[in-house]
Parts: sequence; structure tokens; C-alpha cells
Amino acid sequence: MSLQLNDVVLTYRDGDHRLTAVDHADLTVPAGTATALVGPSGSGKSSLLAVAAALVTPDSGEVVVDGVVVTGLSRAAKTTLRREKIGIVFQQPNLLGALTAVEQLEVMAHLDGRSPRTARRRARELLDAVGLAGQGARRPHQLSGGQRQRVAIARALMNDPAVLLVDEPTSALDHERGAAIIDLVLGFTRRQGVATVLVTHDTAHLDGVDRIAEIRDGRLALTARARSPLTGRPPAGRSAGARPAR
Ligand code: ADP
Ligand code: MG
Repeated sequence: MSLQLNDVVLTYRDGDHRLTAVDHADLTVPAGTATALVGPSGSGKSSLLAVAAALVTPDSGEVVVDGVVVTGLSRAAKTTLRREKIGIVFQQPNLLGALTAVEQLEVMAHLDGRSPRTARRRARELLDAVGLAGQGARRPHQLSGGQRQRVAIARALMNDPAVLLVDEPTSALDHERGAAIIDLVLGFTRRQGVATVLVTHDTAHLDGVDRIAEIRDGRLALTARARSPLTGRPPAGRSAGARPAR
């Protein structure tokens, strides 16, 4: 259960030229660990995640998920692998407006061919685990932004992924709610042995991660320990005042 990117290059067409969004990136994320991916807007964070998620095929290099070289698979095999092995949480939760929280999760299990009863049990367990016990019957408009993002995280975990890819999940949340979402992601990462990549622009969210990768113009630089590449210091612990009591 790990994620590996080997010498990945991704370019986009840009008029007569090509724009290099990911430039010879190497990254290994062991199971049960989280790597934060930080970098300025437009530096290639989402592009790297899209490659890791097998949503986009790189120009060259390979992506290995759980020992399987994804980049060599057919489109159908990629779709299956994505459903079975990869959980994705986007910046916006992208919930289906007509479905209740529990149904958002059940859809995933249905795609995976699990029995409705097993799916419902798992969906309820996960909603409990993300702090939404008793909210399963609510539809997206009846949930707050933080709650919607929790549903999206629970949905991403529904099929027990080997790899969890999370793209700026806290950008629409205040600091306290954002920190709670990050804690949730890191807790699942450790408990379920998932290999997690977490894109964040908020350096206050970096204290729980195992590694920090900084990307600039598509080039990745990895710091071995959780040490902020932005400040050169270990990420600051949350000060007493940083998280007001609920
Ligand atoms: P980030 O997530 O760090 O903000 P992105 O991966 O979205 O960065 O973008 C990296 C670069 O690639 C940017 O210059 C962006 O404009 C460009 N880019 C992203 N997606 C596309 C696309 N589908 N087509 C063309 N250029 C793109
Ligand atoms: Mg992005």
C-alpha cells in the first residue's frame, strides 16, 4: 500500500508551445504516512495529484499504486484501479445535491458491487468517524461547508483506498474547521495504513505530516522530515490560542 511517482513529466499545450506542469517529479509515499504538497498557485500541485490519481496520463514517467504500474494500464483498468484503490478529495466537495450524506457514500459502494446492507453499514460507520453521526439523512444544502467536506472525505474512504489524494480541502473553511479536517485525514492515514498526499497552502496544517514536498514550476523538492520548506523550521505546533475551544 504505497504510492510512487517515478520521473513523472506532464506538459500541457500552451498555444504554440508546451507548458511543463510537472517536471521530472519523484515521490514515494509509504503506507500509513502523509506527505504535504505545498507551493504557490500554478506550481503544479493539482496536476501532480491528477497524475497520481490516474486521471491524467503523464508524458513520461510512471505512477505505481500498491505495486501496480498504473501508467501502463488500459483506460478501463485505470478506472477500476481508481475506484478500488484511490480516494480523492477535491477543493470543493462535489456532492450530488439530490442525495443524502449516507447516499453519497453508498453510491461508491454500489459502483464497487457491494451489497446494499454492507454499504449502508460502512457508510454510517464512516459518517460517525468523520463526526457526522446522526446527520446521514441530510442533503448537501442542509450541511455546513465543513460538514460537506467531511462527507467528501468519508466518501473517499468508502472503498478502503490504498492511496488518498486531498487537494486543498480547507480552502473554504476557517482555520479551526480546517485544522479539524486535516486531523481527520491524518488520523485515517495512520489507522488505515493509507498513503496520503495532502495539498495545502496553510503552513499551520503541516505539523502532523510525515514529509513535506515543495513544488515550484513543476519541480519537486522533498524535505526528509516535517520541516517547513517555507520557513526552514519545523512546523510550529499549534499554540494554545490557535484552536479556540468549541
Ligand atoms: P496548482 O494546483 O499548484 O495551482 P496546477 O497544477 O493547477 O497548479 O497548474 C500548473 C500549471 O499548469 C499552471 O501554469 C496552469 O495554468 C497549467 N494548467 C493546469 N491545468 C491545465 C490544463 N488543463 N490545460 C493547460 N494548462 C493547465
Ligand atoms: Mg490546484
